[in-house]
Amino acid sequence: MDADPEPIRDAADPHHFRRRGVLFVLSSPSGAGKSTIARKLLADEPELGMSVSATTRPMRPGEIDGRDYHFVDLEEFRRMVADDEFLEWAHVFGQRYGTPRAQIETMLAAGKDVLFDIDWQGAQQLFQIAGGDVVRVFIFPPSMEELHRRLTSRGTDAAEVIDARMARAANEVSHWDGYDYVLVNDDVDACFAGVKTILAAERLKRSRQTGLIGFIRKLTR
Ligand code: ADP
Ligand code: 5GP
Repeated sequence: MDADPEPIRDAADPHHFRRRGVLFVLSSPSGAGKSTIARKLLADEPELGMSVSATTRPMRPGEIDGRDYHFVDLEEFRRMVADDEFLEWAHVFGQRYGTPRAQIETMLAAGKDVLFDIDWQGAQQLFQIAGGDVVRVFIFPPSMEELHRRLTSRGTDAAEVIDARMARAANEVSHWDGYDYVLVNDDVDACFAGVKTILAAERLKRSRQTGLIGFIRKLTR
């Protein structure tokens, strides 16, 4: 048979082979800048979709339900856990956060990569489930003083919430060895360039290229 069961090339990017989607995880202590990097990445990468988590924490000023998070109460969160609707979930800052699985399946089926802003517990669980598809990037702040300054200048959290986030930061940083890449977000453009480079290289990994066998067959026929 001459016809390939599946196209070899990626319709959205004909210079590349069809490939498995990348599950791209960004973690950092709160305030180090991962949402800033995530926003820039989404604006710059049409093939990347954002995983929108569900959380029981209150909405911050400026956040939009369904865009930043699905804000749910504890009862609804528990129902979602019981109904196995989460790919992973964890307790963070006394609240619950989880990744609804349906949106991930939809994005991957549509040929997209998926960006996750989740903590080390989420990265660990996702890696258990999806192993080789997962790329884990940890972002360090340049210093704890600068982290405090960013949390304060963001102006979205009360002083006691900022204290709690600072208290947790050292613990989060201690999980750096559960990540594939680490970056320091000192200059935001430099950090963003690093993240873009990682994504570009990971997309090109041979192990993700599902169109490769068909191409080699044709090439060597
Ligand atoms: P996170 O998502 O990790 O909690 P944010 O992206 O909300 O952090 O960033 C926290 C604050 O720090 C925001 O006000 C953001 O504009 C600012 N910020 C992010 N990156 C930098 C940087 N490289 N230099 C200075 N300020 C930054
Ligand atoms: P924030 O309250 O600042 O938005 O997020 C607090 C922390 O929860 C961040 O470290 C963020 O990455 C993490 N987080 C957000 N959503 C999820 C999720 O779905 N799962 C897990 N495990 N962590 C999450």
